[in-house]
Amino acid sequence: MPSPRYWREIPSRYRLEAGRCKGCGVVVFPARHICPSCRGEDVEKVRLSRKGKVITSTVIHVPPGEFLMEAPYAIALVQTPEGARLMTQVVDCDPSSVLPGMEVNLEFRLIRKEGQGGILCYGHKAVPTP
Ligand SMILES: [Zn+2]
Repeated sequence: MPSPRYWREIPSRYRLEAGRCKGCGVVVFPARHICPSCRGEDVEKVRLSRKGKVITSTVIHVPPGEFLMEAPYAIALVQTPEGARLMTQVVDCDPSSVLPGMEVNLEFRLIRKEGQGGILCYGHKAVPTP
């Protein structure tokens, strides 16, 4: 079964909803009730734009068994214009072509199947901007 954390984060993950701390301005995805930077509790929800830029990336050659995608594939830390950072798979391109500074769009895709029951988990993946 998917973890409780996974279920709890579904709404924010599906909507790309992040939290912006009114105290220090940090934007965190997925949204949290307490700011990880200043511990402030005044966090407002913000929708992230569906684009970003690659900060760092790595190519995975041996994926965890539950993942549907075939290795090798690229995983990148992507920063949105709002300042939120998220780890995401980069698809529809040669994994070795994913480099810092690359512009990407965040698209809603199937991420993985959970267990024998085949529960499908969806989320966002990055696709290089043409
Ligand atoms: Zn803060």
